[in-house]
Amino acid sequence: MQRIEHIYIDGAFVTPHGQEWFDLHNPSTEEVIGQVRLGDEHDARRAIAAAKAALPGWSRTTREERLAALARMHKAIAAREDDLMQAIVLEYGAPSQRSRWMATYPAEVIAQAMAALESFAFEEQAGTARVIMTPVGVAGLITPWNSNAGFICNKLATALAAGCTAVIKPSEMSAMQTRIVAEALHEAGLPKGVFNIVNGRGDVVGEEISRNPDIAKISFTGSSAVGQHLVSAGAATMKRVTLELGGKSPTVVLDDADFASILPLVLMAGFANSGQACIAGTRILVPRQRLAEFEQAAKEAVSHIKAGDPREADTDIGPMVSAKQWERVQDYIRIGLEEGATLLAGGEGRPDGLHAGWFVKPTIFTRANNQMRIAREEIFGPVLTIIPYEDEADAIAIANDTHYGLSAVVFGKDLQRCERVARQIDAGRVLINTLAHEPRAPFGGFKYSGLGREMGKWGIGAYLEPKTLLMEAGQVQ
Ligand code: NAD
Repeated sequence: MQRIEHIYIDGAFVTPHGQEWFDLHNPSTEEVIGQVRLGDEHDARRAIAAAKAALPGWSRTTREERLAALARMHKAIAAREDDLMQAIVLEYGAPSQRSRWMATYPAEVIAQAMAALESFAFEEQAGTARVIMTPVGVAGLITPWNSNAGFICNKLATALAAGCTAVIKPSEMSAMQTRIVAEALHEAGLPKGVFNIVNGRGDVVGEEISRNPDIAKISFTGSSAVGQHLVSAGAATMKRVTLELGGKSPTVVLDDADFASILPLVLMAGFANSGQACIAGTRILVPRQRLAEFEQAAKEAVSHIKAGDPREADTDIGPMVSAKQWERVQDYIRIGLEEGATLLAGGEGRPDGLHAGWFVKPTIFTRANNQMRIAREEIFGPVLTIIPYEDEADAIAIANDTHYGLSAVVFGKDLQRCERVARQIDAGRVLINTLAHEPRAPFGGFKYSGLGREMGKWGIGAYLEPKTLLMEAGQVQ
C-alpha cells in the first residue's frame, strides 16, 4: 500500500495544507493499492506564488541554459522508465506494449521539445519593427489520467522552453506516476519554483488555477466540459488557454480498400489505449455496397483481440481506469442496443472468464446511423460503431457531422482519392493508410476537440506573446 503524502513546491517535497486522502485503485483487481493526500486552494496559491517568484529569472535564461535544463530533465526521466512502466500497469492498467510506450514517451517528448527549442525563432524582423516573442508568464498545466506522465512532461518541457514557469495539477487518479515524475524532475536540479506540482481535485486545485490572477496561461488536456469551463472561468483574468479535448474520430474506409489488410489498423485506431484515447477512431464509415463483407472481416479480426490482464504480453485491451468509467461504457453499450444498432461483437458485461477488474468486451456495433448517441458522444472505451455511407460525398458529410474534430484516418488504394477525401475532413490531424505519429507537426483539434495546438514550434508559440519593438528611423539594430 503506497501512501503518497507530499506535493512539490519551490524546489522541495512538502506536506500539503489539504487534509483529504484519495484512494488509488488497481483497475485490474479493483483493490485499493494506495492513497494520495490532496492539496487544497492554499497549496495551489503557495505553488503559484513560487512559480511567480521564479519567473523573472527563468524568463531571462538563454536558449542554451534552457536546453541544458531540459537535457537534465530528459536524463532523469529516462532513468525512471521501468518504474514508470510498473506504475502505469498498476494504477492505470495499460497493456504491456502500450505501457512500455507510455513509459518511454515522457523522456521522448522532452527530447522533442528540445529539438523544437533549438530552431525556434524568438525574434524576427517585420518591416521596420523587431518582433520579440516573450514568455506569457506562469502557466497552469492540468493533465488527465489516460496519459498523465506524458502530458506532464510534454506541457512542462514546452512551457520551460518558452521561458514560462509552471504549476502542474496532475490527474488525482495517477498519483504513482506523478510521484516518479516529481522525483526525477527534482533530480534534474532546476531552479527553485520553476515547476511546482500540486496533487488535488479539479474542483479545488484546478479551480484555483483557473481563477488566480497570477496564472497567465492554462494548458489543459481532458474533457470538453471542463475545457469549456476553463475558457469561461479564465476570461475574468484574461488567461491564454490551450485545450486538448475529446473526440469522436471517423475512420473512413473507401470502396477500393482491401479489408483484410486494413482491419488490424482499423481496430488498432479504435481500441488504442484500451479505447481510452482522445484520438480513437470510433466511427467506422463503410461503403454500404460492401457493408456485409466488411462486417464479416471485422468480426473475424475482432475475435483475435484479447481483453484481459495488462501484464500478459498478448493482451490488447486492459481494464477501464475506474468503476465510474466501466459503468459509463456499459451504459453506452445498453444505449446502442436501445437505439437499434446491431451488435456485431462484444456486448455488456466482462469478457468471458474475468470476474473482477473493470474489463470490457471489445465491442462493435454496426448498421448504426450518425444521429445515434453511440455515434455522437465520446464513450472512452473499446466500443466502435460502423456507419454505412452511400458515396464519397456522403462519407465526407458524415465524417464532418460531429461536434468534434481531433483526428481521422482514411483507408483506400487510390492515394489521390484518399488525399482528396482527407483534405475535406475537418480535423486537426488526418492520417492516410497509417497510424503513424509525427511529433514535429502540430497536434490539437477543431471545434469541441480543442483550442490551439501543442508540439513543435506551434507548441512553444502558445506560451509566448509577440512584442513589437520600433525605434526612431535609423536606430534599429
Ligand atoms: P476531466 O476533464 O474530468 O479531467 C482532466 C483534468 O482536469 C483532471 O486533472 C481533473 O482533475 C481536472 N479538472 C476537473 N474539473 C476541473 C475544474 N473544474 N477545473 C480545473 N480542472 C479540473 O477528464 P478525464 O476524465 O480526466 O479524461 C478523459 C477526457 O480527456 C476525455 O474526454 C478525453 O477525450 C480527454 N482527453 C483528451 C486528450 C487530447 O489530447 N485531446 C488526451 C487525453 C484525454
